[in-house]
Amino acid sequence: MSDVTAPGSRRLLRRVKLVMSGEGTAAQRLDALVEAIANELLCEVCTVYVLRAGEVLELFATQGLNRDAVHKTRLRVGEGLVGNIAANARPLNLQEAQCHSDFAYRPETGEEAFRSFLGVPIIRTGRVRGVLAVQNKVPRQYTEEEQEALEMIVLVLAELIASGELIGAGEQTRAEGNAILPTRLTGVRINSGIAMGEAVLHQNRVSIRQLFGDDPEAEKKRLSTALSAMHESLDALFAADELSGKGEHHDVLETYRLVARDAGWIKRLHEATASGLTAEAAVQNVHDDMHSRLTGAANPYLRERLHDFTDLANRLMAHLSGEHATSAFEELPDNVVLLARNMGPAELLDYEAHRIRALLLEEASANSHVAIVARALDIPVIGRIENLLSRIDPHDPVIVDAENSQVFVRPTEDIQQVVLRTITDREKQRRVHAAMRTQPPVTLDDKRVSLNLNAGLMIEVSQVEETGVDGIGLFRTEIPFMVRSELPSVAAQRALYSSILEQAKGRPVNFRTLDIGGDKQLPYLHGTTDQNPNMGWRAIRMALDRPLMLRHQLRALIQAADGRSLAIMFPMVAEVAELEAARAILDKELERERNRGGRLPAALSIGAMLEVPGLVWQLPALLKRVDFLSVGSNDLFQFLFAADRGNPLVAERYDVLSPGMLELLRKIVEDCYKEQVPLSLCGEMAGDPLEAMALIGLGFRTISMSPTQVGKVRAMVCSLDIGNLASYMNTLTGSPEHSLRSKLEFYARDHGVMI
Ligand code: PEP
Ligand code: MG
Repeated sequence: MSDVTAPGSRRLLRRVKLVMSGEGTAAQRLDALVEAIANELLCEVCTVYVLRAGEVLELFATQGLNRDAVHKTRLRVGEGLVGNIAANARPLNLQEAQCHSDFAYRPETGEEAFRSFLGVPIIRTGRVRGVLAVQNKVPRQYTEEEQEALEMIVLVLAELIASGELIGAGEQTRAEGNAILPTRLTGVRINSGIAMGEAVLHQNRVSIRQLFGDDPEAEKKRLSTALSAMHESLDALFAADELSGKGEHHDVLETYRLVARDAGWIKRLHEATASGLTAEAAVQNVHDDMHSRLTGAANPYLRERLHDFTDLANRLMAHLSGEHATSAFEELPDNVVLLARNMGPAELLDYEAHRIRALLLEEASANSHVAIVARALDIPVIGRIENLLSRIDPHDPVIVDAENSQVFVRPTEDIQQVVLRTITDREKQRRVHAAMRTQPPVTLDDKRVSLNLNAGLMIEVSQVEETGVDGIGLFRTEIPFMVRSELPSVAAQRALYSSILEQAKGRPVNFRTLDIGGDKQLPYLHGTTDQNPNMGWRAIRMALDRPLMLRHQLRALIQAADGRSLAIMFPMVAEVAELEAARAILDKELERERNRGGRLPAALSIGAMLEVPGLVWQLPALLKRVDFLSVGSNDLFQFLFAADRGNPLVAERYDVLSPGMLELLRKIVEDCYKEQVPLSLCGEMAGDPLEAMALIGLGFRTISMSPTQVGKVRAMVCSLDIGNLASYMNTLTGSPEHSLRSKLEFYARDHGVMI
């Protein structure tokens, strides 16, 4: 930890305290403040810029620059070094400022003479409010302690700005000049769904009123009391009813609970209070230090921990200030669209889940912990929305269309009406589908289609009953690995697989062995630097090169089955030899279990996933060696068309309902019929009613999809005549068209198929 309690910094902070508690207007105190900073840090210049409406940073106080420039010099966010700090919400510490690409010279200030520059953002409740900067004529490397002292001072400045004495509170909430106009924002879909609500900014910083305490012992005691209260309230929070089902969110919350009791963190907090800081300042100081060390860390595990510590720091501050009770949320509307830069999983749980319609984040990815908890609570989430916090204001009406990764801010009346209709229609449809839950998926010409679930979270497995499916067609075992902080042991895996089998209540579960690599990296394993990760070292390739991990997983699966039936499938098989190698490893594990007197599975089915087109030409040989085949159409399609499924520029260029893709699928169906090998398909196609209709027309009778899609697909199946559709689809073979989508849509409409 760097030391803001070093004598120089400490003297400065004492002076800041004196200035801020002194007489005079806010502007006078600001002038005295810049003077004190310049004197104590031996800087020729100290300036404060405040963010005004219209994304403009205005010079509000200066020591060392031309005072006539105050209230005249204005920079846009992103313009110059000060604008760069505001845009990125990050400090800049430059020995040669003029070498920086964003350096912009403003003649009225007379700052061309200054070579070194240190600036820090003034942030409050996740938003940049201004910038504090110091400059020197000689090239000077500002120390870490000096930077941290400024970071402490901006906490005070943030409060001064928020008090509304410098600029009106109204101006502060509307950060964009043209913000009253409707706006559309885009990001990355993290959890699907459509919702409408009122923007609520997630408040995560409690103000620090005092930097130094008069009695370190008393501060230490306050800290201990707040820590105990926080631990207790976290225990109560995690025991909430909505979270009672078992699931990966439990692992996330358990990890969080452990982080909250991290001995190193608690020790540093106590050390900081012992050196004279108030408990609040100690929390902030330890956190800022951690933030500057971990921010930008490439390792996703460390980044996730940083979010946890940020959340804990805010939570602890709230306990210290007595604002921790959920009463802080009592005034929330019933339809909250929550906005945050990022969030810890527990922070989301502080809100009453039934009020949260959607969550919007500037950062976060599909695998971040808050996303996993949001999914468990069925809250739509969009992440990676650039400058989200400066483009939506509290109370703005917001429509979140997470299916298309877009947000409508202050939408016009007609958009609101359209979306409202969609939401109501969906709700109605959902009720109809729920009522059909027990209806067998049998077609009009009396053919039974097997509908199954794709799952990766325990909460999804628990929906087998609710959705009335036949089983779990794909259990993505890598998901539970991704939410843990270390590789799970055989015992932990055994417990997990066993509880999945129990939840499935005798229905078959196809466990897919780890499909890691590609876009699914495990935080605790070294990532690869593959240039094309999807075509790189992933799935079965990794498993065969690192057989121990596969052996452990197979061992856990065999033991979890404990004499019951077991189905295992291997992902990304590209040639028969890979399947043979994986089978040999499985045989070894069966042998091992037999030798130790364990119970072997009553029936063992071994399957391969067909995701690599090359395997299609080895199908007759492969089918003699497997008990079932499952088509992973997501990967198969991207490799067939050489079009990255994650790249928006090409992902939509080709269609899964193209004649080429459909012909390939038809060949797979024919080969499996010939060899009498059960066939299923578990890519996204299976969950889209029209695409699933095409699959059934080609001869698929078993498909697997995410729980939310089952109702729609069941309705489609029950309204379909397969014989008729198959004859129609035969007439389409050899088509030169880009896609058969519209033809199939017309067919469905003309024949009353519910798509
Ligand atoms: C697929 O590729 O279709 C599939 C089901 O696997 P995943 O989406 O997990 O890659
Ligand atoms: Mg796949």
